[in-house]
Amino acid sequence: MPELPEVQTIADGIEPYLLNKKIIKCNVYVDKLRWQLQKNLSKNLIGCKVLNVSRRAKYIIISGSEFYLTIHLGMTGTLRIANKKDLKQKHDHFEIYLSSNLILRFNDPRKFGMIFFSKESPITSNRLLSELGVEPLEKKFNEKYLYSISRSRNIAVKSLLMNAKIVVGIGNIYASEALFLSKIKPQKVSKKLTKEDCKVLVTSIKKVLKKAIKKGGSSINDYINVDGKKGYFQYDFKVYGRTNMPCHICQNDILQIKINQRSSFYCKNCQK
Ligand SMILES: [Zn+2]
Repeated sequence: MPELPEVQTIADGIEPYLLNKKIIKCNVYVDKLRWQLQKNLSKNLIGCKVLNVSRRAKYIIISGSEFYLTIHLGMTGTLRIANKKDLKQKHDHFEIYLSSNLILRFNDPRKFGMIFFSKESPITSNRLLSELGVEPLEKKFNEKYLYSISRSRNIAVKSLLMNAKIVVGIGNIYASEALFLSKIKPQKVSKKLTKEDCKVLVTSIKKVLKKAIKKGGSSINDYINVDGKKGYFQYDFKVYGRTNMPCHICQNDILQIKINQRSSFYCKNCQK
């Protein structure tokens, strides 16, 4: 599943191809992804000029003066820029033809993605986005915030970090990696986090995400970045997916446990 770094990489990757380009044609090949697609989707988009490409949580927002196109990649969605010689591929469900003669294609084998047109900004008008927590790379996500929000919570710190109403875009991979870097075990009860824990954790989360963005996102599962190249952050994982392999610090085996039905990886020796 694409996580925040992948989504940021894709948004950054498609942006230069879309800015100041007009949408001249759209093809929609399915009725439904995660939800039913809007009937007037392509009609609404034709003639629109793209002025901005941004990201909120794991949503990519392509917008202009009178429109917002919100895209979520779901489990297996990808976006790529193609030219007219590139043939449509299996699972290409949506195409935007641009005035530059290039095409933006949305491919999604498992169809859990989302494409949504609106005239108002989804950040304020769509409940899926308006009720989201803070962005982890913004200043609002800091030691003070994490400390105060964790006081009343009896849940594992990993579950807290993966709660999008608190902080967005920290999925299973980056929660596991940031906790390892912080030397905090994933099952530690949130309200027992000290101020120092929160400080270290916030710094680690930002560090792990920034590093992944810099490297072009990870290539776990079906994710391919905008150029069709695989990202390569996965080779740097310290704990994620490394069950029974030696910890890079102490050589003890990395353990795998379930927290909130999600596989969690940690070193019993290094993380307390
Ligand atoms: Zn260790």
